[in-house]
Amino acid sequence: MFDRARHDDLRGIRGSEAILADALEILRRVWGYQNFRGKQFEAIENILKGGDTLVLFPTGKGKSLCYQLPALYLEGTAVVVSPLVALMRDQVEELRSLGIAAEALFSGQSGEEQAAVRSQLSRGELKLLYVTPERIVLPSFTTMFGQQKVSLIAVDESHCISVWGNNFRKDYLELGRLKDLFSAVPVVALTATADPHTQRDILDKLNLDDPKVFIDSFDRPNISYEIVERTNAKAQLIEFLRRHEGESGIVYCLSRKKVEETVLWLNDRGVKARHYHAGLDPSEKAANQDAFRLEEGLCLVATVAFGMGINKPNVRYVAHLDLPSSVESYYQETGRAGRDGLPSEAFMTYGMQDIVQRQRMIEMGESSEQVKRVERAKLSALVGICETAGCRRQAVLGHFGEKYSGNCGNCDNCLRPVATFDGTDMAVKALAAIYRTGERFGTGHVIDVLTGKETEKTKRFGHTELAVFGAGRDVDARTWQSVYRQLLALGFIRIEHDDFGAMKLEPSCRGVFRKETEVILRRDLVVRRSKGVSNAVAGSAARQRGGLSDADYSLFESLRLERLRIAKEQGVAPYVIFPDTTLISFATSRPKSRSAMLGVPGVGQVKLERYGDIFLSIIREIG
Ligand code: ADP
Ligand code: ZN
Repeated sequence: MFDRARHDDLRGIRGSEAILADALEILRRVWGYQNFRGKQFEAIENILKGGDTLVLFPTGKGKSLCYQLPALYLEGTAVVVSPLVALMRDQVEELRSLGIAAEALFSGQSGEEQAAVRSQLSRGELKLLYVTPERIVLPSFTTMFGQQKVSLIAVDESHCISVWGNNFRKDYLELGRLKDLFSAVPVVALTATADPHTQRDILDKLNLDDPKVFIDSFDRPNISYEIVERTNAKAQLIEFLRRHEGESGIVYCLSRKKVEETVLWLNDRGVKARHYHAGLDPSEKAANQDAFRLEEGLCLVATVAFGMGINKPNVRYVAHLDLPSSVESYYQETGRAGRDGLPSEAFMTYGMQDIVQRQRMIEMGESSEQVKRVERAKLSALVGICETAGCRRQAVLGHFGEKYSGNCGNCDNCLRPVATFDGTDMAVKALAAIYRTGERFGTGHVIDVLTGKETEKTKRFGHTELAVFGAGRDVDARTWQSVYRQLLALGFIRIEHDDFGAMKLEPSCRGVFRKETEVILRRDLVVRRSKGVSNAVAGSAARQRGGLSDADYSLFESLRLERLRIAKEQGVAPYVIFPDTTLISFATSRPKSRSAMLGVPGVGQVKLERYGDIFLSIIREIG
């Protein structure tokens, strides 16, 4: 089917242009895509020439193709290291649906299944073999290949080798031996984790030889960001989910208990939801993860235990009901939305309580003081992003060292700019209330004092007698909450964990008291915020239907139903048949012939043979 090439041939004889022409031919014939995206081809060329490579693209930019296409191009079998069986299975299914010979070896398989894979391998029939990290370094693994050539080794999710990443796995460290075990085989490491620490660790720990690094912008333009103050988490969630009827998404909660409560609550309200957390038994976890892969329109409520290994491209939303642990986690978790490039939403509700709770988790944790310092800094970076009046995308990308200029037009602050004002007077009052009450209380009590509430506690501590008592009466408690969060994000106060979440003044407050430092605050929370923002973003959610007219949308729905039927019949995930992007293209361009169909992105030769006629008949019937 393919002309098998060797690295040696490519290194010398073939020039870039010839390689590009060959690679494009494969891309078009097998995947049905017209052109490479971003730096895909540069990475592919380096691999084809036998170089070690690190591919650092954000989710959804098409990392897999960077090793899959060379695997087809080159002689021999490509070995892909993957951390999770679920991930391997997804990849193998997708490759097979393209007519590519791919298999996986993992411990859950029967002896017979494994033997079958081995014999395919020894006959030289496999283009790609997926394995877990511990398996590839076994002596029996190398011998299994016999005379067969290994074309390349891909290390997927390669950040798992670094303790700096969020998903360190000890078995990944063994992969440092790959370069010895498979000398002269190029290694390509892939990851979507951006930070420089992890990046350096990957290159070092894998012992890559003169590696070339290909980095793409980390922006995910199809994801819109919205972060709102929590007023009533459940009501806010249901309002948000209303924009996503019939679509799949993930809701993250901090605790198992909250996961359970949320699922019950959603099911009561007719939202199809399932739970996922570390406390479930493995079979239930697997069943719920499977349901998420195979079904459409499912809401998965989970702790952070859920996520790695989620390849589903049409996750349309990710909602956080609690503050994540860092900007890195926030970006990784929200990044599970919209792999297919279609509009998707990231939504978060949060409040001061989250910060107090996160801080407690850090301080009570077993980490060293040095690690805790990093964790505190990570938390405050995240709070800064939550409290910014500027573009969220710009703030998040800036955190990763990437410059993004201008407003993105696809986050809450850009869609509905928030006014800022000179809040120095308010800040003075807010800080004075902390100071006068002895830096011993959390926001609840201090705000009671400011707003002049005669509670048992304000009376007992004699705070009703203070000059600040009632000094902030003209403003409601919610606004004061916002002011305190902003003061925290601006570094004027800190929360003391040892003192039950009491607010303490930082030295920088002095400038505020003397009115030498101007404090610029956001005005948005004075009005009820979440409604307006939701509407603004809802506008973009409506665009989510790809701007489809009613007629096109109804055709899309029919195609989707057919896809689900075929997927069920074959026991694969629907997107393995065709991704949403392809179905949307079918619905809008309405191809009436096989050749017209081949022009649609995502329709390669094999898929045209397998499914072309079925979908053509639906399009002809309706169109
Ligand atoms: P990643 O691993 O980087 O998250 P994937 O490899 O899963 O991304 O690719 C995301 C989606 O983009 C997949 O549906 C894939 O088929 C598609 N894709 C990859 N390369 C291209 C391309 N050059 N043109 C169009 N779509 C592409
Ligand atoms: Zn923005």
